Amino acid sequence: MKTKVSALDGWFDANPERPRLIGSRCGSCRSYFFPKETFACRNPSCGSAELADVALSATGTLWSYTDNHYQPPAPYVSPEPFVPYAIAAVELADEKMVVLGQVAHGVATADLKVGMRMELVAETLYSDDAKEYLVWKWTPAARSASPARSRS
Ligand SMILES: [Zn+2]
Repeated sequence: MKTKVSALDGWFDANPERPRLIGSRCGSCRSYFFPKETFACRNPSCGSAELADVALSATGTLWSYTDNHYQPPAPYVSPEPFVPYAIAAVELADEKMVVLGQVAHGVATADLKVGMRMELVAETLYSDDAKEYLVWKWTPAARSASPARSRS
């Protein structure tokens, strides 16, 4: 079995049991950033350099979505032949920040509805002889078969 690693090191913890986006949080004004900020807080009235990496919420609310029929240029790696896929913009549960991502394999835009609860999953983007490179994707929360999560 191949080792599973993040295709975007530093952006995403690809642990398949518990995939999480890695952002940063300002220690002064408490703002969140994704992709993570490493130089200084982007809040113009703050500017603190006290930034820490944090794992962001793995769930959120579907804010918008669309079908992508355009093959992204390199360095993005697309399967060949290119197959259109859905993209979702999800507002993270705690951070209230909108994060874009591809929608999980097998989920069509017809399955999506603005306001529905979404969760983060890890899927293989590409692989080589030794490793599988994973990216985050969004999927409707009800479709996940995670036994550890309560349904309340
Ligand atoms: Zn700040």
